[in-house]
Amino acid sequence: MQYVSTRGHSARKSFSVILTAALAQDGGLYMPDHIDSFTHEEITALKDASYAQLATRILSYFAGDSIACSDVEQAIEKGLKRFTSPQIAPLTKLGGNRWLLELYHGPTLAFKDYALQIVAELINDQLNRTDQRAMVLCATSGDTGAAAAAAFAGRNRVKVVVLHPEGRVSDVQRRQMTTLPNDNILNVAIRGDFDDCQALVKAMFQDSIADDLKLTAVNSINWARIVSQVVYYAWASLQLADKGNPHFVVPTGNFGNILAAQVARKLGFPIGQLTLSSNENDVLPRFFESGHMQRRETLPSLSPSMDIQVSSNFERALWWAMDCDSDALRASQQALAETGEYAVPEDIMTSLREHFNAVRCTKVDAVKEIQRVHKENNLAICPHTATASFASRSIDDSNNPVVVVATAHPAKFPVGVEQALGAVEPLPDDIERALSGEERFITLDADLDQLRQKLIDFS
Ligand SMILES: *Cc1c(COP(=O)(O)O)cnc(C)c1O
Repeated sequence: MQYVSTRGHSARKSFSVILTAALAQDGGLYMPDHIDSFTHEEITALKDASYAQLATRILSYFAGDSIACSDVEQAIEKGLKRFTSPQIAPLTKLGGNRWLLELYHGPTLAFKDYALQIVAELINDQLNRTDQRAMVLCATSGDTGAAAAAAFAGRNRVKVVVLHPEGRVSDVQRRQMTTLPNDNILNVAIRGDFDDCQALVKAMFQDSIADDLKLTAVNSINWARIVSQVVYYAWASLQLADKGNPHFVVPTGNFGNILAAQVARKLGFPIGQLTLSSNENDVLPRFFESGHMQRRETLPSLSPSMDIQVSSNFERALWWAMDCDSDALRASQQALAETGEYAVPEDIMTSLREHFNAVRCTKVDAVKEIQRVHKENNLAICPHTATASFASRSIDDSNNPVVVVATAHPAKFPVGVEQALGAVEPLPDDIERALSGEERFITLDADLDQLRQKLIDFS
């Protein structure tokens, strides 16, 4: 298995190399040069596999011969240790043929743990094998930073720098990042929004000093993260296989999570249509309606992890829809960078719409949805999950299970939950205790020169 850039101007790389790389040299995202579907017999046989066995099969496929299968297996075993549910990603029935896929049983209570706990092990092993060090640099709308800090805390070969938009992450999210006592973590609050943080990270990776600093990306532009997320879609589809091909509804920001569902489908797992939900930052629903991608100003919402106007991973889905035409892809992304918009031809929109639908959910609808699920199922859901649950109500697919992807624990987002239910969900005790420590972070303008200097000082 080799990896190529969506923009077509970078050398082919192996999985172990792109594991600690970021964007390709030409600014594109790494993609596998092919994905073969597993055979029907193999998929059937995998129904009896444990989550860890399924993860090993999927990650080994994408690692190719660049990492020994036994090493992948061990990394997964270690990476799954901190999950508190024996099923790792339990499915809860909501009623009829509607289900909730709970992805909040990891150490920071959001789905980002499902990838980062494993990816941190893989990166650590790779650095040990090659006797190298790395500096993980990531932009976060809240959950990635917490998950990355938790996954890499205390590792002696890795430093972690996390940029979050000042005042735009929840209190719990911020504390999860900033109260870790480990000196290998630097938290930076950026005076700006998430897209500013993401733009700084992208610019830093293309900076002349990136190689010297050994910068490594663990944002969802890192392919290993996507691959680790493929596992729970494959898992859920096998659990529900006798009920039809699940239609997943995914709260979406950077498009990493839903892309993983598409990859699972490409591998042959029995998955139906995919619906993405957004909050009032509805760049993707507007795009699916009009074929016109147009970034606007980011609005604060009840679901801050989805407050995004540039969904980085959408580039990957677009590249597939364009039949891997890197020239056309590059033109669209250049237009987006220069003018904040691009249009996609109708035949490509048709191909995209075959796989994806998009639904917008306003603040008012999200609050009502939290109330409705609480009443129907006696269950609190977070405001991100609420956008998907809301979207799932409009799906008319009686032959297949509809699976709402629950991306975070409701206790992580007390503001939205309290608005809806009049009370907050308590945090698990051990997490509550951990968050009471002293917060450590610095604040910077959205300015590349300032950031570069801080990274040099910290390295
Ligand atoms: C990151 C995140 C999302 C968005 O996922 P993407 O992969 O960026 O589309 C949605 N909900 C929660 C709780 C998140 O942490």
